[in-house]
Amino acid sequence: MYPLIDTHAHLDDIEDLGPAIARARENGLIAIIAVGVDYESNNRVLEIAERYSIVFPALGCHPGELGETAAEIERNLQFIEDNVESTVGIGEIGLDYHKRATSKVSKDTQKQVLKDVLAIAKRYAKPALVHSRYSWWDCFNILQESGVERAVFHWYSGPLSVLRDLISQGYYASATLAAEYHEDHRRAMSETPCDNLLLETDSPVIYRWGTEFESEPADVTRVLEAVARLKGVERDVLAQRTTENALTLFGLSDFPAPLIPAVD
Ligand SMILES: [Zn+2]
Repeated sequence: MYPLIDTHAHLDDIEDLGPAIARARENGLIAIIAVGVDYESNNRVLEIAERYSIVFPALGCHPGELGETAAEIERNLQFIEDNVESTVGIGEIGLDYHKRATSKVSKDTQKQVLKDVLAIAKRYAKPALVHSRYSWWDCFNILQESGVERAVFHWYSGPLSVLRDLISQGYYASATLAAEYHEDHRRAMSETPCDNLLLETDSPVIYRWGTEFESEPADVTRVLEAVARLKGVERDVLAQRTTENALTLFGLSDFPAPLIPAVD
């Protein structure tokens, strides 16, 4: 089985992390990108990455978790910039136009923060991990304006018109376990070329169909299975393409330990 990478997981929200990391290794994962959502979460993500060699950190400010005050936002942005050199990307960042999010933080504030954090990504040439729920066009346009050249639209379930534009920019879209059952996500993943595709779990998100269950990074094997079936591609071929995409996007091949053992 070709090695896999979970490109988006909230490891700081997983209660019993040690065993979950062990199961990820047993299931052939060679890397997990741990994303942060706010100041506290970013701190924990860095600690987790220190502790487990399989974990690579990304620091972010989730649009739904921006905090109450401008000072809180500023403190987090400063933290991201101070620690940017030890990250493989900036995320989770983006916009969320679901009313649960906009009732907490206005669209204008979300957009301003996104521009500010993308300026950091641009300055340090880091890829962006973008949350774009109901805000696909605005996310795409702001990314374009920022000049950030590498990005992934995580769990993309938006319109195919935006998808085509983001693909033509060389950006990526990532698949979650919703590829097993959610029509909008399935349509988007069918349309995404393998060269622009990544796999992720967004764990510990609880996926709902039939029975509820809390996801973990090892479930990226199920995402692989679902997307391979959906696209009619061999599982191993898809594993290799998506893993190579992730290695390239996050620059993981530059890390000291070789992630993929050499095969004689
Ligand atoms: Zn997420």
